[in-house]
Amino acid sequence: MAITAQGKEAALKALKERREKNKDKEAVDNSKLPAGSPMYFDCIGCNGNIVVPESYMSRPKLCGECQAMKDLGWLVASPRKDHYEHQ
Ligand SMILES: [Zn+2]
Repeated sequence: MAITAQGKEAALKALKERREKNKDKEAVDNSKLPAGSPMYFDCIGCNGNIVVPESYMSRPKLCGECQAMKDLGWLVASPRKDHYEHQ
């Protein structure tokens, strides 16, 4: 179940924790992965890994949890368009 089901407070707390956890995360170099491997992207909300099949159609910007928060209006685009902030 998505953390958003537990309410905004819980979702914002979880987002903060994800950001802390991912602060020093090493980015995955997709070009070094064998052919057919899933692709890794950074979530622009929490910097967490987003894993998509190699045949992905469009590059996701947000992980599932951050996307759910955005859909609820709890995560809004900041002036830096590559970045999301919570309200
Ligand atoms: Zn995220």
